[in-house]
Amino acid sequence: MPQIAKVAVSDATIHFDKLYSYLVPQELAEHIWPGSMVLVPFGAGSKPRMAVVLECGEETEPDPRLKTILDAAPEEARLTPDLIELVHFLRDRTFCTWFEAVKAMIPYGAQYQPARKDGRWVMQSRLSRTAEPVYTLVGELPQKPKPGPKQAAAVQALRDGPLSRKELAEQGISDATLKTLCEKGVLSVEQRDKLLDLFASIPFDPRPLELSPEQQAAYDALEPDLTARQPRAALLYGVTGSGKTAVFLKLIERTLELGRKALVLVPEISLTPQMIRRLKQMFGSRLAVQHSALNNTERLLQWRMIQSGKADIVVGTRSAVFAPLRDIGLIIIDEEQEHTYQSESAPRYSAHDVAKKRAAAEGALLVFASATPRTETYHAAQSGRLRLVTLTQRYGGRPLPTVDFIDMRAELAAGNPREVSGRLVQELKVNLQKGEQSILLLNRRGYRTVAMCSVCGHVIKCPNCSVPMVYHKPQQALMCHHCGHQVRPAPQRCPECGGKLNYSGFGTQRVEEELEQLLPGARILRMDQDSTGQKNSHEKMLAEFAAGQHDILLGTQMVAKGLDFEKVTLVGVLGIDSMLFGQGFRAFENVFSLVTQVIGRGGRAELPGRALIQTVVPEHPVLKLAAAQDYPAFYRQEIAFRKFSLYPPFCAFCVVGFTGKQEGAVCQAAFAFARILADLAAKQPEIPLRLLGPAPMNIGMLAGKYRYKLTIKCRNDAAFRALMRGALDEYAKQKLPAKATVALDFNSDGD
Ligand code: ADP
Ligand code: ZN
Repeated sequence: MPQIAKVAVSDATIHFDKLYSYLVPQELAEHIWPGSMVLVPFGAGSKPRMAVVLECGEETEPDPRLKTILDAAPEEARLTPDLIELVHFLRDRTFCTWFEAVKAMIPYGAQYQPARKDGRWVMQSRLSRTAEPVYTLVGELPQKPKPGPKQAAAVQALRDGPLSRKELAEQGISDATLKTLCEKGVLSVEQRDKLLDLFASIPFDPRPLELSPEQQAAYDALEPDLTARQPRAALLYGVTGSGKTAVFLKLIERTLELGRKALVLVPEISLTPQMIRRLKQMFGSRLAVQHSALNNTERLLQWRMIQSGKADIVVGTRSAVFAPLRDIGLIIIDEEQEHTYQSESAPRYSAHDVAKKRAAAEGALLVFASATPRTETYHAAQSGRLRLVTLTQRYGGRPLPTVDFIDMRAELAAGNPREVSGRLVQELKVNLQKGEQSILLLNRRGYRTVAMCSVCGHVIKCPNCSVPMVYHKPQQALMCHHCGHQVRPAPQRCPECGGKLNYSGFGTQRVEEELEQLLPGARILRMDQDSTGQKNSHEKMLAEFAAGQHDILLGTQMVAKGLDFEKVTLVGVLGIDSMLFGQGFRAFENVFSLVTQVIGRGGRAELPGRALIQTVVPEHPVLKLAAAQDYPAFYRQEIAFRKFSLYPPFCAFCVVGFTGKQEGAVCQAAFAFARILADLAAKQPEIPLRLLGPAPMNIGMLAGKYRYKLTIKCRNDAAFRALMRGALDEYAKQKLPAKATVALDFNSDGD
């Protein structure tokens, strides 16, 4: 009987993302299963498309118009049944296409693309070379004729064991030399997979971990949920420095004892080295990582290691939630409040939701951990949907840092033209004298953040985005932090009236310069997106700081969270006020979290910590609560606000974004969609929802595209999603002058 495969094709839009049937040719029959990646002829274009098989079956009399699958990828590229489940889940929840979901799950290096070969179409791996030549010394160098110094150097380099071509190249040994030595029978060469163990340099040092009584109680509360082999979820809420990691480590140990695997998510790359170090020391090499700072080859090899069952623990950022681990017993989401767990491009998923789904499928324990949980998460714990486990004390009975405000109104009145206050400088000097370290947070990169005309008040904005451009001193350029547009050299005169431009506002580069002037000789390390562009630079910088090579670590939010250095005793918070008046319903939560977290970097070991917050609104309740490091009090205030104004967790927030090159068309599309939705909703009054807008987004133009949004407060259930699908279908049928791209986002906080 003829075999049929139903596939989802690449580059579909949600309007034609249907399952298409194809005939399976005899010679590929063995290779085609649900989850297989295949190549299919599609549409009028001559170029075939990649596709994923989602269903297989037989038909006695298939439609004679069916086309035939052209090629199929090898078995190792096949999605496992649990990942296929996730593909459907993502499509249903985030309104992405099937193939977008597939692409999010499979690293670039494991993906395929169409290619022409011998006059026909085949599929080709995007990354073919994952192996590299490795050379071994197998003979002695003949002394006659006398060998050249290059050959002698190569032999010398290989005396201690085999080296890869790349390692030899780093020692200045050329391919030609190696080739000659192979021909002479002095060296042998073989192809080996590159770098399977990325962390070979971290010693395995399984010191027994003793939990404090409070940590032990937390572990004891969670352990039955781990052994239950049932879907369970918990919130581990512990003040900064309480040792949440120690509790994870014990849970991971127990998971491995049970013969199961663990997945650990961290919010950003800068936190992976520290987590990897702790895990590697305790558990050795059966550890794999997945994050975007790996190159494609490394990422692919790590992925294959997971896929082939050679990893017991996976650590990574958001997308690691799709790691092809089997038999997961434990999933940890550390610093669960971080917005980096939400994807901002299709598929617009949250790692929380995917992790919940996976934990449910595997019968695993899911642990959210934070000193400042999201309001939604703490609410779920309060209402019993998550088990709440609390660590109230710092490890070793250490006190939380003492916190003081510096009133910047007084600084301004006293004529200080700098961002760094006199009081903070004094405290930094004290720390320098004592040989203790300091961390300063300023969540704005660049040198000057605004360029404004002194005559007409014109602010220089990016031509492609409606945001002010930021002056960067090293490049002497104005830069757009959204699209990367540059104006070099930075102008001195207003383009509108020719008046003199004033540069104001403080970025990390400027504060670094102030500190250099105010504290001559202090060793300052600046850490922001600009200074960490190089591969492994986070890791190097943090290792240097931990080794005491710097006195002051100054940086954006990447210095605020999760880091653990024993000699940090002073924390300074700069330029926080603008965040207090930010947009979106999470603005207060974000400020509370950032300030509490950064304060929590101080006094984590023997030495007590202190923190200073520079602000013009020291009486602001959110800052006061953050200074008191009183999360429960903050939560009580925040949950009341959320309830009163109807925000999550009391409703779901669905933002429909419209983008396009012509503002009129985008605006028209947004209104057309809103009308369709309102009409459909009127027919189903049992579905609760409220429409807000349409309106331009806060950043009304981004990378040359206009942006409008329609915000819907709703209950995110199957009925609501069916209604939205109906609205999208109806919208696709509309005759509009120009269509705008529509995107749904359930994670957005309103912009
Ligand atoms: P947080 O709860 O802020 O994530 P950490 O897990 O980083 O805290 O722990 C804070 C510090 O206390 C770390 O330096 C850690 O090594 C130490 N610590 C915590 N628990 C223990 C323990 N049981 N044994 C030894 N050191 C611990
Ligand atoms: Zn721009």
